[in-house]
Amino acid sequence: MPALLRRHLLLGLATTAVALHAASPSKAQAPASAGPPDPALVEDLVAANRILVDQGVVDGYGHVSARHPASAERYLMARSIAPELVTAADIMEYDLDSVPVDARGRGSYLERFIHGEIYRARPDVRAIVHNHSPSVIPFGVTGVPLRPLYHMSAFLAGGVPVFDIRQASGGMTDMLVRDAALGRALAGTLGAAPVALMRGHGAVVVGPSLPVVVFRSVYTEVNARLQAQALALGGAVTYLDPEEARRAEASITGTIGRPWELWKRKAQGR
Ligand SMILES: [Zn+2]
Repeated sequence: MPALLRRHLLLGLATTAVALHAASPSKAQAPASAGPPDPALVEDLVAANRILVDQGVVDGYGHVSARHPASAERYLMARSIAPELVTAADIMEYDLDSVPVDARGRGSYLERFIHGEIYRARPDVRAIVHNHSPSVIPFGVTGVPLRPLYHMSAFLAGGVPVFDIRQASGGMTDMLVRDAALGRALAGTLGAAPVALMRGHGAVVVGPSLPVVVFRSVYTEVNARLQAQALALGGAVTYLDPEEARRAEASITGTIGRPWELWKRKAQGR
């Protein structure tokens, strides 16, 4: 090989190596922490995991997160573990790409992109629950809309959109929101709503705080059960009028602290 050509080849290889080397550290680098979160928020996040188990919203699967109080670009969620087993030591910090700040060998939920992409799309959201709440599943697969039929679920009055992962991905999947693109598509379906159903999978519930998102998760499940019972009776179902829903939600919102304190005390007593 002529010396000049050989030199060019080597130079080319070296340039490529430098480029690769320069690209890899930034990719591998963990995002910076927003600092230690308020211990009271971590306590509430641990409690939220257990309450959702107690109320039949999550089982061995499902997760709940809270936006980091010190940075809108970070959120807090347990490592990959069954919700009932979550303790403060399991809470990890993520950036909105759902990359852990300090994994220390701890595994992450496959569907964490649900959380990162909704926090990115919805600045008003400070807490998110993803669940496989059993009573909502039929409403995600039949085209029968989930609608509020009593005052406790008045927050559903604006409509409950249904996310179909087959349309979002353009093909067959394992039904899991396992990357950022699917997370973005789910956030798009959710829009400004408090709840979206996920066809053949479960639901995502969002809110301005952990007590509100837990309340909404519990009463979405209860409303779905009651609505299926009402539909099974066969008569015409009278749902809340939008004005009734508006008034009921305004009243109930002020009382959410009551069930939250009860649920939290029971969850912490175990
Ligand atoms: Zn899931």
